[in-house]
Amino acid sequence: MSITCTLHRSEPAHFQCDECGSSLCDECISLRETSGFSGKNRDYFCPACELPARMIGLGNVLEPFWNRLGAIFLYPLQPAPLLLTLVLSIIGALFAGWGIVQLLVWIVMVKYAYASLIHTAQGSLRAPPVTWELINQNVLQVFKQFVVFAIIAACVGFVAPFSPIAAVALIFVVAACLPAIIMILVASNSILQAVNPALFVPIIFRIGWAYLLMYLFLLFLLGAPTALFAVLPVELIHPRILFFLQLFLSQLYSIICYHLMGYVLLQYHEEIGYSVDYEYFAANRGGKKQLKAKTQEAELATGLALLIKAGKFQEAIARLRPAILEDNPDPELSEKFFQLLKMTGEKSKAEHYVIRHFEVMATNGKKQKAIELFDEVKRSPVGAPSGKSVYQVGIWLQERNQFKKALEVFAYFTKYHKKDARAPEVYFNVAKLLHEQADNSAKAKQILQGILKTFPRHELVPQVREYLAVLA
Ligand SMILES: [Zn+2]
Ligand SMILES: [Zn+2]
Repeated sequence: MSITCTLHRSEPAHFQCDECGSSLCDECISLRETSGFSGKNRDYFCPACELPARMIGLGNVLEPFWNRLGAIFLYPLQPAPLLLTLVLSIIGALFAGWGIVQLLVWIVMVKYAYASLIHTAQGSLRAPPVTWELINQNVLQVFKQFVVFAIIAACVGFVAPFSPIAAVALIFVVAACLPAIIMILVASNSILQAVNPALFVPIIFRIGWAYLLMYLFLLFLLGAPTALFAVLPVELIHPRILFFLQLFLSQLYSIICYHLMGYVLLQYHEEIGYSVDYEYFAANRGGKKQLKAKTQEAELATGLALLIKAGKFQEAIARLRPAILEDNPDPELSEKFFQLLKMTGEKSKAEHYVIRHFEVMATNGKKQKAIELFDEVKRSPVGAPSGKSVYQVGIWLQERNQFKKALEVFAYFTKYHKKDARAPEVYFNVAKLLHEQADNSAKAKQILQGILKTFPRHELVPQVREYLAVLA
């Protein structure tokens, strides 16, 4: 893993945005599903720019093969391949002298090994199930592999009469290149491309030392059965059982080889030019969860985090604006918008926006935040927030016994919302606060009389009279 997610430094990036330079993990990427003529389209977008993102080679996401040699070695011991190799080896051993049976056993095995390669190369680390289709279909693929071997053998045969040394050298070279040749055959499905040295030689160099490592592992594995038979008391074992063991081990070996080649093909698919279906890969790698389309809110949150991280505050403001213009914007987004306006040094814009921000906070019951904002609201050169929100904040302050501040807020209300339906109540509150908290009974009296005069029919009138009586 060389490229990590911009927001999650411990996660490998799966996509890259060429527009903003963000690297995106599978949590951060935005999946968008659209219905087209050919069914559902799944596209990957950068949540910051809302533009298509580019898939990074999966080699960046995958654990390199040299770190999971153990798992690769154990691959054929999954139930499906284990059962298949056991059955095929038993059949092979029972019909030891039957050429046609041996051939059939061999074809089925090669077919399965080949399927393991393709399965792995597409991103599934679980062995393919043994099905009739798997054995029966795409026989051509396997046939093509034998045509490739035949071509190689013909080349060696052609060179041999002229120079036996050259022929031996050629065998060594071909043996060294064989995994690359098979990988190209899978990637291109073309015999001509597979046997073209101009293709397989550069690929070996592009994979580099990892190719050598893979090769050494294959050679080491090849030696394992030989080593095993060297220590077994071969002469004491029944020839049929010995034959069974040889078959069984060689089949396990084939599956490991093809699985490893598939893994290398997957890990280096970018270098080799093999296209991997990201969806299939995402759905199959080690049972990790499948990618789902994110909610608009989640997408926006990620997009903003990316833009802010990149210091693109103006872009973040632009990205947020549609959500802010909605009827009742999310208070957190509103707060972010407000902070961004301040961060960009747009003092006048922040001074304007604080009015709406205060309303959003009050409407959504964000008491502390709304109370904190009041001083900025007071300083704002543009009109006042709605009467409802100012009234609400005044009430909260009263509930918190912050009477001085409550008085200030109610006084502000009376300045801007004289005609509001809540005005009589606010005046009454102001009077009570003046008398009880500010020691200004004269002013309180004056206000109470003002209420009676201005709103003679209001439902609060009896209470106001009662209070006046107490004052007098
Ligand atoms: Zn972007
Ligand atoms: Zn991420």
